[in-house]
Amino acid sequence: MFPNHAQPLVTAPAETAILALLLAESPLSRVELARRTGLSSTAVTKAARPLINDGYLKELPPERTAPGAGRPVNPLAVTLDREFFVGVKISADTLFGTVCDLRARMRTTASRPLGDRDPAAVCALLADLVAELLDAKPEYRARTRHLGIAVSGDVDRHGGRVRYSVLPGWRDVQLAETVAAATGLTVTVENDVKALTVTEHWFGEGIGTEYFALVTLGAGIGSGIVVNGELVAGAYGVAGEIGHICVDPSGPRCHCGAAGCVEAIASSDAILGTVRRATDDPDMDFDGAVQLARSGDPAAQGAFARAGHAIGVGIATLVSLVGPERVVVTGEGLDTYDLFGAHIKAAYVAHCFKAAAKCPLTLRPLPWEEWARSAAVVGIQALFP
Ligand SMILES: [Zn+2]
Repeated sequence: MFPNHAQPLVTAPAETAILALLLAESPLSRVELARRTGLSSTAVTKAARPLINDGYLKELPPERTAPGAGRPVNPLAVTLDREFFVGVKISADTLFGTVCDLRARMRTTASRPLGDRDPAAVCALLADLVAELLDAKPEYRARTRHLGIAVSGDVDRHGGRVRYSVLPGWRDVQLAETVAAATGLTVTVENDVKALTVTEHWFGEGIGTEYFALVTLGAGIGSGIVVNGELVAGAYGVAGEIGHICVDPSGPRCHCGAAGCVEAIASSDAILGTVRRATDDPDMDFDGAVQLARSGDPAAQGAFARAGHAIGVGIATLVSLVGPERVVVTGEGLDTYDLFGAHIKAAYVAHCFKAAAKCPLTLRPLPWEEWARSAAVVGIQALFP
């Protein structure tokens, strides 16, 4: 049987620590679990017992560490298919969905083109997509209770509301309640970049780091920050807005109302706008601007260079403030990294404060399905207090 829908699976600190560690790295011996969590081996055994009884953890066959090393040990592992999680990413024109297991491995995926962006229409389509995902295998429907939704913009995770999202163009939409009623699942809504940051921290490039950041490039410039092993949410629900760091006070006006933001110079729309003005071609599209730059046109190359410089200064600011061990750079903007990567690097190195510049930038191309996966991880998070 499942615990109560709305209740976290674990509440005690020892259980929380063991489950979190085993979700990220599994299997681990009890000795290793004790060493990594700082618990005694008795406390590890006590904390693991209810999770074994509920079927979330299992003991693997005993393995001897070395001849004569004493009693054989039973490593502990997560039972991957004990519970499943649905994740949906709402993008500008598509809903991407997936079912993940307990260690965030994608078991199935599906998508729906987004026609009408009216919240009621999107909620109905989303419920339809979730039904298709859960119908893929009987165990998905039987053992899924959490749905995570990732959407760009200002998201009130606690209240389940999208306060403001440029894409799909929503203001104050009560998303969690509507989708919960339509699907029967417990729904958590999260900002998409924050969801991706948690996923990379927990299951990807950020494993084991206490200070970590992720930056997305493309239609928007966003970032998520992890400090002391926790995602920084911000007292007012806003933190890590690297896209709205001012890099040029006399620069172009940003959609946020300020001037000279990184996003106002380096988003794909901003780059396109610069190339259109330079070439006096108002009908040019982004692919055209990319082709022009790759063909060696100085004005188009200059637009990407300026964007790269703004991004590099933005990342340097973030790194100098937070001091992450590693920054993952991702998003559809990586498709044009050949045009601005060198400028990002140069500005980053030039503007980082001293030892902070040791922090490497790791490029990580992520397909859209990975965004849906990160939404499912938001569901996995709901197991914890
Ligand atoms: Zn701005």
